[in-house]
Amino acid sequence: TRMTGYEPSEIIGLTPRVLQSPKTDRAELGRLRRALEAWEPVEVEVLNVRKDGTEFYSQISITPVADERGWFTHWVSIQRDITERKTREQAMQSLMASSTVALLTLDADQAVVSVDGGLQAMSALSFEDIVGRILSSLVHPDDVGRLDRLLTSTWEDRLDEASAEVRFGQRDGSWRWMQMTMPERHDQSSPDTMLLMSDISERKHVQDQLKQAGDRFRSAFNDAPIGMAVTDTTGRFVQVNEALTQLLGRDEATLMGLRIDQVMHPDDVQSGRQQRQALLDGTLTHHQFETRLVHRDGSVVGVLHSSSVIPGPDGRVQYIVDHIEDITSRQRFEAQLQHQASHDPLTGLPNRALLIRRLDRLLQGDPHAHPVAVLFLDLDRFKTVNDSLGHQSGDAVLVACSRRLETVLKPEDTLARLGGDEFVILSTDCTPEQAQEQATAVETALREPFAIGRNRMPLSASIGISAPARADTTAEGLLSDADAAMYDAKERGRSRIQVFDDDLGSRVNRRVQSEAELRSAILGGELRVYYQPEVHLADWSVHGLEALVRWQHPTRGLLLPDTFISLAESTGLIDDLGDWVIDQVLQEIVRRRGTPDAPMPVTWINVSMHQLQSPSFVPRLGRQLRDHGVAGSSIGLEVTESVLMSEADEARVQLDRLKSLGVGLAIDDFGTGYSSLSYLARFPVDIVKIDAGFTARIDDPATRRESFALISAVVSLAQALRLQVVAEGIETVSQAQALNGLGCDFGQGFLLGRPSPSGALEPIEVDLGIT
Ligand code: C2E
Ligand code: CA
Ligand code: CA
Repeated sequence: TRMTGYEPSEIIGLTPRVLQSPKTDRAELGRLRRALEAWEPVEVEVLNVRKDGTEFYSQISITPVADERGWFTHWVSIQRDITERKTREQAMQSLMASSTVALLTLDADQAVVSVDGGLQAMSALSFEDIVGRILSSLVHPDDVGRLDRLLTSTWEDRLDEASAEVRFGQRDGSWRWMQMTMPERHDQSSPDTMLLMSDISERKHVQDQLKQAGDRFRSAFNDAPIGMAVTDTTGRFVQVNEALTQLLGRDEATLMGLRIDQVMHPDDVQSGRQQRQALLDGTLTHHQFETRLVHRDGSVVGVLHSSSVIPGPDGRVQYIVDHIEDITSRQRFEAQLQHQASHDPLTGLPNRALLIRRLDRLLQGDPHAHPVAVLFLDLDRFKTVNDSLGHQSGDAVLVACSRRLETVLKPEDTLARLGGDEFVILSTDCTPEQAQEQATAVETALREPFAIGRNRMPLSASIGISAPARADTTAEGLLSDADAAMYDAKERGRSRIQVFDDDLGSRVNRRVQSEAELRSAILGGELRVYYQPEVHLADWSVHGLEALVRWQHPTRGLLLPDTFISLAESTGLIDDLGDWVIDQVLQEIVRRRGTPDAPMPVTWINVSMHQLQSPSFVPRLGRQLRDHGVAGSSIGLEVTESVLMSEADEARVQLDRLKSLGVGLAIDDFGTGYSSLSYLARFPVDIVKIDAGFTARIDDPATRRESFALISAVVSLAQALRLQVVAEGIETVSQAQALNGLGCDFGQGFLLGRPSPSGALEPIEVDLGIT
């Protein structure tokens, strides 16, 4: 009555069903009913309900009772309240169901009798999949042995290891790792075995990954192409890889007995230790720096050394991992690149960039304690060497020349090649006077003939010297001063030494200024073309005209070409100037064509060597002739002898192309150069113009004979070669008569006609003095 809340009077006469909760386990009820029908004893656990409606679990043990005849007459039921236990069990079960632990009960045949706990949570298997099956059939074949060992082990065996890790089959055919643990068996009499099964797939997975990472690390370490080491806090090698043993030429065993600073370059030990200390202190967790190690054979290995720390369990640095990459070849390559960038490939000398750097550095020093000077030298007529002997010989000369120049250097001096035949000596601790002495030494060094192929030839150089005049002198400024001085030396007739001074400075300035002026004169129409007649000496009839350029300067008046042609040549303006003159001449020819009765003599145009050297000159001239509709035969070009001498082959080709335009060709100022008469035969020349100097000498009794000799020699050669001869600079009648008598067909000079804008077409009135 205490259990149910009913008074005995209230329930006597009723069936026990009155205590039955509708929520009770149907299976248990069924078991009870079957036992009652069979008059068998039974024990069930059911959910009952009290009089007040509250529920409780009761364990009911029912025993049939028989009378003396052996007939069953009634039952005795002993009922116990087991609510407390049941609730605990249910809590456990729901806990287990959601956990990754399950309790398996196996019978003596190792068949699964029951499963409690979180089977669902940890695998996709349900109870039906497992219950009744032999456990080993559910486990991965490779793990069955391990499972068996666990199941057959005795308690004593299991002290160390009471569990086994096995793979447990899933519905989808995959496997999950389970740890099977055998709890201590209290009930020794029971044939059943209890196994606690917990899902350790996650843990296994992580472990696998850790192991793989370890394996990966191990092979990355061992097979790494760069040297790797693990060192302890004292710097001792704990682990080294193959690459490091090769890099250092020492085997693993040897290295293990060494500290890392024992393989460092002596000069780098100090800084290496400091770097390590920073790691050990915790100031840094990793670092990277370039340093040097020493190979067993004593050679130095440039390395990129990177280190990082491995902390121990206490968080303090336990090991240091060192990556040691051999960068010797990279360093060598870099050094080579650097060298290439700062040196001239032909001579191996410093180039302009390096020179400027060194000069800059020197200029920052004390100019009084350590004066510097710059010697700018340019080989004279090197182009001739190059052109006549070929570029290879030219290169050989440059190399030989730089070796000679090196002999005049002081130890701290720099010899640089700026390109072409330009060299610079950066002279240290050198006064301007000493610089001049050094320049003289250069001249002497070059004077000894160079052996080039079968030839032997001396060289000379034009040398410009500059020294810093002010505190703010820049390297570039000093170099361009020396350049200007060299240029001046060259202008004054080569093979000279010129020191840059204020006078030269202002001349350079003027030059720069006049260049700008000339440029604008060409573009701005300040140039004029004058024409001077060329006449038959027999009857003074006009045979040709020579075009001569003039500069109608706004303030300085009419300037003659001598004042600006060389400037035009040295600045390259000559090309534009020349094109302009040719254009003017062609326009003039077209204009005369339209004038009836105007004589149409061939007009001769002066061209500089510089113009002829331009590969585009001939095509440009051809286009100009076409554009104006003028035949090539209407004009001729006057070139100086030097064209015949220099770059003989190229000149020939160029002159042949000119001839193919039908243009005439005259050799100007003949006799002033060094060409021999025989040169004339090798070129497609039409006219030889004997220099005015020879004409002038006719009137002087002291020089007349010599002049006659040359003129008649030229005339006879010209006749043999079918060339015409023009004598220039005829100012007197006696000159004209003498030349005529010597067989010279044509003449030109103030006597016969001055240069004028129209060309001297007006009749020339001269008293011949003879009749
Ligand atoms: P050049 O080719 O020898 O020209 C002859 C020079 O002698 C001209 O001087 C002319 O005026 C001058 N002359 C002519 N007859 C006499 C004379 O009887 N006595 C004296 N003392 N001189 C006489 P100019 O015009 O001053 O030209 C000088 C040089 O300038 C020319 O010498 C020529 O080499 C160059 N030149 C002139 N025009 C041009 C041009 O358009 N282009 C180039 N590249 N050079 C030119
Ligand atoms: Ca001329
Ligand atoms: Ca001339």
